[in-house]
Amino acid sequence: MTDLIRSWLETANDPATPFPLNNLPFGVFAAGDTPRCGTAIGNHVLDLAALQSTGLLPDCEFEAPALNTFMGLGKQAWEDVRQKLTDLLRDGNETGTVRAALHDVGSVTLHLPFQVTEYTDFYAGRQHAFNVGSMFRDRESALPPNWLHIPIGYNGRASTVVVSGTDFHRPLGQMKAPHEEIPSFGPCKRLDMELEIGAVVGLPSQMGKPISVDEADDMIFGYVILNDWSARDIQTWEYQPLGPFLSKAFATTISPWVVSKFSLAPFRCATPPREKELLPYIRDTGPMLYDIDLAVSMTAKGGPPTVICRTNYNTMYYSAAQQLAHHASSGCAMRTGDLLGSGTISGPDKGTYGSLLEMTWGGKHPLTLDCGRTRTFIEDGDTLALHGHAQGDGYRIGFGPCTGTILPPPTPAA
Ligand code: MN
Repeated sequence: MTDLIRSWLETANDPATPFPLNNLPFGVFAAGDTPRCGTAIGNHVLDLAALQSTGLLPDCEFEAPALNTFMGLGKQAWEDVRQKLTDLLRDGNETGTVRAALHDVGSVTLHLPFQVTEYTDFYAGRQHAFNVGSMFRDRESALPPNWLHIPIGYNGRASTVVVSGTDFHRPLGQMKAPHEEIPSFGPCKRLDMELEIGAVVGLPSQMGKPISVDEADDMIFGYVILNDWSARDIQTWEYQPLGPFLSKAFATTISPWVVSKFSLAPFRCATPPREKELLPYIRDTGPMLYDIDLAVSMTAKGGPPTVICRTNYNTMYYSAAQQLAHHASSGCAMRTGDLLGSGTISGPDKGTYGSLLEMTWGGKHPLTLDCGRTRTFIEDGDTLALHGHAQGDGYRIGFGPCTGTILPPPTPAA
């Protein structure tokens, strides 16, 4: 395990900071002016556009309000910038130029870190797939017959991926409960969240050209925490036979910082043992999952936050590299800014489930929050906050929060 790399910026050496020098995640921020690229370090955001203009960093278009150009440059360019930043911030190397490019994190606004060009959501959590299958089918045939062979996914909407802290309205939609004769249209009544990790594609692939799992791993720029908000009642009525459509298209929240694969390297771990061997094109070639502790808290308006889930990304059945290799296997082109959701991350028991659907078992067993109020699904004014970090020896690699508050439904179109 790697040790803490000490910085001359004292807040970066705090064992509790999510952003030590070992991390250096990439994002987009504004300090009351034009958004541009930055990195988080201790309690500060370092202006990468400013360092680029003084020649301390190579030109990667850090003055742009999105990381896409930098992300498209590939692994060597990512590593070079990371090495330069590490040198500039390392203990003993303090300069006035770098100090002048620091902003207090409290004084900046964080924006969507990259332009999301495409969004695909997978279903790689075995316990989650088993729980959902048990609820809607039966325990014996809970896992669909293809599940142990193929990373199941659907093409989602990039247009409604938002950065942490973006509030949105409860979705409207068409639904029909089993006892109802005809469907109705109105506000979703079973609004849920899904705890996921998002993999961010840097290097693109060509249409018609499959990629190996190793090539896929090299194409991944980094990872974010992702909330795949889900309208369960809309989903139940619409999903057969083509999968989720509008029930997951109204909002997807991501954390503001893309944590690079290099900072997560010491936390790599293997996927679990397989009872069915995978086909060669998506077989593991090494440990490509990560040991990332995850937690979800729920806050009813005016109340304290209640932790409702603790789990770990290391339980997933397919890594993002396997999902990406599978995605490109038919000839599908992958783009810089492609976002791949892992699938809901659920551990083996109730306190480790990554969705309210599972925690309340379809709404049958309400949760009691610390304020005394109970919840089956999300109510207006509720805030969900997803957190994640990899725990090193004396330091941690954090992502920043992934939060959203639900506003009342909009007025339907006339
Ligand atoms: Mn999902």
